[in-house]
Amino acid sequence: MKVFTGIAVSPGIETGPVLVLGSENFRIPRVYLTRDAVDAELNRFHEALDHVCADIRENEQLVTSQLGEQYGAIFSAHLQMAGDPRLIREVEALIRDQCRSPEFAVSRVLRGYASQLQKMGNQYLSERALDIFDLEKRLLGKLLGASREELRDLSSPVILLAHDLTPGETASLDTRFVLGFATEVGGRTSHTAILAGALEIPAVVGLGRCLAQVSGGETAILDGDRGQVVVDPDSESLNRVERSRARRHLVRERLGRINNLPAETQDGQRIQLSGNIEFPEEVSACMQRGADGIGLYRTEFLFLSGNREPSEQDHYEAYCRVLDACGERPVVIRTLDIGADKVPQLLQSQFEESPNPMLGLRSIRLSLQSTPMFKRQLRAILRASVRGNVRIMFPLVSSLLEFRQAKMILMDVMEDLEEEGVPFQRNLPVGMMVEVPSAVILAEEFAREVDFFSIGTNDLIQYTLACDRSDPTVAGLYRAGDPSILRLIRMVLRAADRHGKPVTVCGQMSSEPRFVPLLLGMGLRSLSVTPQSIPLLKEIIRSLPISEAERIAQHACQLDLARDVEHYLQGELSRLCPDLVNGNDF
Ligand code: PEP
Ligand code: MG
Repeated sequence: MKVFTGIAVSPGIETGPVLVLGSENFRIPRVYLTRDAVDAELNRFHEALDHVCADIRENEQLVTSQLGEQYGAIFSAHLQMAGDPRLIREVEALIRDQCRSPEFAVSRVLRGYASQLQKMGNQYLSERALDIFDLEKRLLGKLLGASREELRDLSSPVILLAHDLTPGETASLDTRFVLGFATEVGGRTSHTAILAGALEIPAVVGLGRCLAQVSGGETAILDGDRGQVVVDPDSESLNRVERSRARRHLVRERLGRINNLPAETQDGQRIQLSGNIEFPEEVSACMQRGADGIGLYRTEFLFLSGNREPSEQDHYEAYCRVLDACGERPVVIRTLDIGADKVPQLLQSQFEESPNPMLGLRSIRLSLQSTPMFKRQLRAILRASVRGNVRIMFPLVSSLLEFRQAKMILMDVMEDLEEEGVPFQRNLPVGMMVEVPSAVILAEEFAREVDFFSIGTNDLIQYTLACDRSDPTVAGLYRAGDPSILRLIRMVLRAADRHGKPVTVCGQMSSEPRFVPLLLGMGLRSLSVTPQSIPLLKEIIRSLPISEAERIAQHACQLDLARDVEHYLQGELSRLCPDLVNGNDF
């Protein structure tokens, strides 16, 4: 049994066969052979090996003739490895004695060697592991030939393990077959992690290097509550999965009973509890769970999941679907937040040169530079605005000029529509995300011009603490409970309050149960959260009087270490709702 630990980003627990997705997306299709197939499969392995050796020899000659012998020598090392008798014996033994498929045997043996090299702590040897992966890739390429399977061709359930998944790839996972996924890289609020929540499948990110130790086809438990992947689990672990499933089912049933009750504190203070969505399909889950509306619609996913730029009509139809499902409830449509880790395939070349995409051309900056694209989206939002209660929000605003420019373009589009006689809602509220420290520092000035604020803690933490939100190596420093973050949120709440402007927190912080009493105690009355967390958060809100929330916030804001703040908040939550949070299911 092998246990890998990472960051839990989407709850739930699943068991199934592992599909390892390497850079080449190879899938090991069969793990076991029938005994009478062994000889033929041994032959297949040797044929594949012969072909690979011939290819390497050809490369060696080509490179030697073009670049010289010292470069050609690289391939002699590959050739030596491919012909290593010990390696060949080990692969043969797995095929012959354990009836494993050649694909599985090759992957298991080569990854075993690569893993040993990686563990030696020597950079040179660690880099040699890449040569072994290269050999594995070549052999699998020959063995699988035309039967290389892509993720989209899945036909049976799998637990997906990958080095990384882009938000676009994650968005197109087929959840009929992908039971859950885990990646070697990624952080708590990376968009890939956020999407796992949207797909409502368990997910773990930031496992660190572990793929070398997994071949694919093994049974694994993916535990999205504890942030663990257990490969080849023992029977005790499998029993734990069953117990956890049963407990989860009971809690879900209990929470399901409050779906139609309002998010109201024990002393009658109504809290707006809305959903964050990436796709129109998610609205029904929000409505079922009694959301008060959509507090954040990440419209860029319309762009990320397709292979062409969405037309005005594509935008319009998606917005109409969301609005029709929401009725009178407010829907905050955020304009495109493209860039950083959300780059659509068709815009890839535009971003390749960026030395630091998180600080580069993204979000509203890109929209302001691509006016036709921005106008297309704004026209669609305005046309759809007659179908419901729409609010427009601009992302990543970092200066007043940006907000004013974005608003001017909106006014231009309004004028165009008026001239064309197209109906739209003229007075729809226009707000901004507060996710850059400069926007907090100037919150007072912004508050005079905006209709509402929505605090995007995912980016605000990243830009305040200088920690990439998707980098697992700094995940320990990326903390919502940092006193600096609490102070920034306070500054926004105060400035907004002085100007009578509403504030929502729509970053992942508000979806984390322990932060809810703190945020309410600081004066926040509106949260926009991942749809999955609505029932639990509603229960917490309903068990809490505001005076208690204020006491908790007052104490938390006096602590000077993120660790102490988070520890204190966890303790208070366990005291408030012991039966909900102590089961370790959320
Ligand atoms: C945020 O930054 O907190 C946010 C909600 O926006 P996104 O996660 O889409 O960057
Ligand atoms: Mg953001």
